[in-house]
Amino acid sequence: MKPGLFHERQALRPDAPGADVNRKGGDSCVKRLDVVVVGAGFGGLYAAYRFREMGLRIQGFEAGGDVGGVWYWNRYPGARVDLPSIDYSYSFSPEIEQEWTWSEQFAAQPELLAYFNFVATRLDLRKHFQFNTRVTSAVWDEARALWTVRTDRGELLEATYCVMATGPLSIPKDPDIPGLDRYEGRLLRAAKWPHEPVSFAGKRVGVIGTGSTGIQIVQEVGKQAGELYVFQRTPSFTMPMRNAPLESDYLAEVKRNYPAMREIARSSAVGGLRPQSTRAFFSVTPAQRQQLLEDAWKNGGLAMLGTFADLMSNEEANEHVAEFVRSKIDEVVKDPVTAERLKPRGYPIFARRPCLDSSYYETYNQPNVHLVDLFADPIVEITEKGVRTQSGEVELDMLILATGYDGLTGALLAFDVVGRDGRTVNDHWKQGARSYLGLMMDGFPNLFMTTGPNGPAALANIVRISEHDVDLIAGVITHMDKQGLATIEPTPEAEKEWMDLVYTLSQRTLLTKAKTWYVGANVKDKPQGLTLFTGGFHKYRELCAAAVKDGYRGFAFQRKKQAVAV
Ligand code: NAP
Repeated sequence: MKPGLFHERQALRPDAPGADVNRKGGDSCVKRLDVVVVGAGFGGLYAAYRFREMGLRIQGFEAGGDVGGVWYWNRYPGARVDLPSIDYSYSFSPEIEQEWTWSEQFAAQPELLAYFNFVATRLDLRKHFQFNTRVTSAVWDEARALWTVRTDRGELLEATYCVMATGPLSIPKDPDIPGLDRYEGRLLRAAKWPHEPVSFAGKRVGVIGTGSTGIQIVQEVGKQAGELYVFQRTPSFTMPMRNAPLESDYLAEVKRNYPAMREIARSSAVGGLRPQSTRAFFSVTPAQRQQLLEDAWKNGGLAMLGTFADLMSNEEANEHVAEFVRSKIDEVVKDPVTAERLKPRGYPIFARRPCLDSSYYETYNQPNVHLVDLFADPIVEITEKGVRTQSGEVELDMLILATGYDGLTGALLAFDVVGRDGRTVNDHWKQGARSYLGLMMDGFPNLFMTTGPNGPAALANIVRISEHDVDLIAGVITHMDKQGLATIEPTPEAEKEWMDLVYTLSQRTLLTKAKTWYVGANVKDKPQGLTLFTGGFHKYRELCAAAVKDGYRGFAFQRKKQAVAV
């Protein structure tokens, strides 16, 4: 599509997108747009670029002070991506692929943020966003077929489309432990980490939470703190990351082969280059299995997950792999009591997000690092001085919260999204998140989600999903413009059918057998259940493409009302 197409045409109208419209009696100045984009992470940034290139009038909002999404906020020590950097990056711009050079196999947060800044500057995207601004409400105006969007800075905008690129992990969750507000030491939240350096030298530090975030923090802070107390409720399985610098020869090869590599990623279940196997666990001998697991442990990264095809469907096979990792904990951790406490039990390996570490288990061999097993000795309260467990008080200079997120749905439920007939997303998701293709909800016309909670969101490469979703939305908008259509939304039947498929597929995986943010178990009173599409990214793409090809099957459109001459 030619840039400028949309605003040339719409500029003929008095309330053309981009124009500031004065209204009587109400808000003095309303900005009229084609699209409001919420969030400046991977999805939002690409959306701004894509829609701008289509000639759409856009306005982005971002609560953070700059681009980067989770990588803007999560500046905690040790923050690092657990997918290969070359995979965890945009594919839409061959120029960016060639101009940007990753330094490590798994990039650390400062490099990821530098990447975001590079992309935003290179494509001049910052001008489309207003930072330090939260959208407080988005309300569908049925009569005029547009969204009215308000922000916490008092702006009021009108837009034909809303794109919620709010991400699956953007609403951090404090633990519901009494006394948190009484604590007089320094309280640090992983997901809202200060911008200035924090020194732990000689300090008594506590960490609550041992998911991916807590594990990364513990292995870094353990190197610096005077004493480190790790308050562990459920232990996670973690495997060696085996991070390494990327050599220039390898990078040159990658840069030559980006298009083919991206195609492989797009055609895979995980949206990435991770090897996957078709081999069933019990199809090889015990000795061969052991060797394959040893090799995967040695190779590092998420290699182990790709060693056998049935690890997420065969409970017995899964338990063998879990036991293999437990045996590795015994090999590393010298104190047998600590080793035992670090061993995850009672849920399948990989049913929680698998963690990657560089020295997590080794950290517990340091004399300054203490594991507090909260199953044996639960936290009673936070005091002025530290954390009181049943067995006594641990005094702390600093307390770090790595207690996770209100995942998948939290961001969209954090503000008022009101669709047709005053129905809110809160109403729509009362029994759990539901949508069609993870992209749109019945009763919320022209409102799109990227990496939505009923797509493959947390289970595949978020960059590939973001690009896919934005491209699909761009296609929808182009189609609607060509056909003179005013609104699009899924039919209730299509949404039900999609959710039935999501549910059926979820019953085949062991992902439902752990209490995680995937299933909403970490947030009090949240509807429980796996609402993610577990069929793999490649299948998700196929199903979306088939719906589009089949004349936007499952979607209902309304035509634009014709202007009547008076
Ligand atoms: P998480 O996996 O949900 O872990 C939260 C931790 O806090 C759990 O250990 C949980 O224990 C604990 N916790 C929560 N409330 C508690 C309480 N009241 N008392 C004691 N412990 C409590 O959250 P996360 O570690 O932030 O990770 C979330 C997701 O972010 C990951 O799954 C991953 O997808 C992503 N992530 C990725 C990377 C990476 O790319 N390397 C890094 C960090 C995060 P229970 O399990 O017992 O509730």
